[in-house]
Amino acid sequence: MRLSRYFLPVLKEDPKEAQIVSHRLMLRAGMIKQQAAGIYSWLPLGYRILRRIETIVHEEQARAGHIPMLMPTLQPADLWRESGRYDDYGEEMLRLKDRHKRDLLYGPTNEEMITDIFRAHVNSYKDLPLTLYHIQWKFRDEIRPRFGVMRGREFLMKDGYNFDLTKEAALHAYNRHLVSYLRTYERMGLQAIPMRADGGPIGGDYTHEFLVLAETGESEVFYDSEITDLTFGDRQIDYDSVEQCQAVLEEFTSRYARTDETHDEAVYAQIPQERRRKARGIEVGQIFYFGTKYSEPMGATVVGPDGARVPVHMGSHGIGVSRLLGAIIEANHDDRGIIWPEGVTPFHAGIVNLKQGDASTDSACEALYAALRAQGLDPLYDDRDERAGAKFATMDLIGLPWRITVGPRGLAANKVELTERRSGESTEVTPEEAVARLARVYAPVLAQAYPIA
Ligand code: ATP
Ligand code: MG
Repeated sequence: MRLSRYFLPVLKEDPKEAQIVSHRLMLRAGMIKQQAAGIYSWLPLGYRILRRIETIVHEEQARAGHIPMLMPTLQPADLWRESGRYDDYGEEMLRLKDRHKRDLLYGPTNEEMITDIFRAHVNSYKDLPLTLYHIQWKFRDEIRPRFGVMRGREFLMKDGYNFDLTKEAALHAYNRHLVSYLRTYERMGLQAIPMRADGGPIGGDYTHEFLVLAETGESEVFYDSEITDLTFGDRQIDYDSVEQCQAVLEEFTSRYARTDETHDEAVYAQIPQERRRKARGIEVGQIFYFGTKYSEPMGATVVGPDGARVPVHMGSHGIGVSRLLGAIIEANHDDRGIIWPEGVTPFHAGIVNLKQGDASTDSACEALYAALRAQGLDPLYDDRDERAGAKFATMDLIGLPWRITVGPRGLAANKVELTERRSGESTEVTPEEAVARLARVYAPVLAQAYPIA
């Protein structure tokens, strides 16, 4: 992308309405624009990152064997009357009527609708196990929308639903989701710790929330510091293996880690004093097993092996796709701006032309641009006629992990400057070396790609 032809409305001043750094930086970097309380337009840069995050979520769901689909945002109220949640959900549900006076709602989640789809089309235990998911906009009329996309009213969520014959099989689906989520967040450069949580309006006895530690997080959390040493890494997991998924669950949930809803002082007190941590966290996902809570009232049954109809065991599993942008920025920024992890960066590198209009500098930049693209990388070329300082400030603000600075003085010795955003370290290298080095840096990131189902 050439910056002169892009739409990147960066702000010079700090917007007054933003209370936390991620919200401030998203507004300043021209990623989002608020249209109403908790409702945002995604401007090109923000949309690009949103899609990168969505793609990682899709790829990791495909790797786990889960099947994508798409359900509508508007749902008929009658489905929710069947489960009893139409009355229970309260004011967070946005209710509306169509021209025929039929009650509709903007979906806050999709358990009822997916159960309706299941009961219409699945009849036999032979069609199980089945896990369907979608990434779709949700609406919750939050009493206090705030912190930008972190607590919006309209927000993008991945929600997946497993259908299994038995509780054991459904718990394997639960574990499988836990494994796939660990991998998903790590690809985004995040440590998201599974913590024992509360079921809330979704219900259920088994549930974990995934929390990113951050001072601005809305959840209070308590954990054993040993848990922060765990990483999933690039281990290969057979998602069909009950033992392997169970082992990962045990590894990541055996140490104390709970949100305040389930916190137990007595158990916490048994952790050695020096390992006890009380902190704040951002909830970026949650998994639930809730058995037959929806399948029973809604008649989602299958013919079992012995010929009798039984309600299926279900769970639901959510990732806060749009909230993740805020969470990633909270965990990755400095006083100059955002620092995108390489897995989610909107552009892999920025090219800064120090002397736009100078024939040899322009052509060196063009050559770099083409060479990076030939490596499968996506550069952002600042080809505007601007001062160097302004170009650097924009690159730092929008947070590209790498910058290549090209000027006539360096080029005289066939050198450009390669700068890492996070450390600020610069090295003088030939243009070819710069390309080769970025190709090496991004090779493991690109290797994570997985065909989407
Ligand atoms: P919270 O406790 O933060 O209100 P929740 O537990 O009600 O969230 P879930 O039903 O578990 O939310 O939804 C799955 C994921 O969707 C959450 O883990 C969170 O990351 C995201 N999410 C929920 N509410 C919002 C919101 N208002 N804005 C942005 N993302 C949200
Ligand atoms: Mg939750």
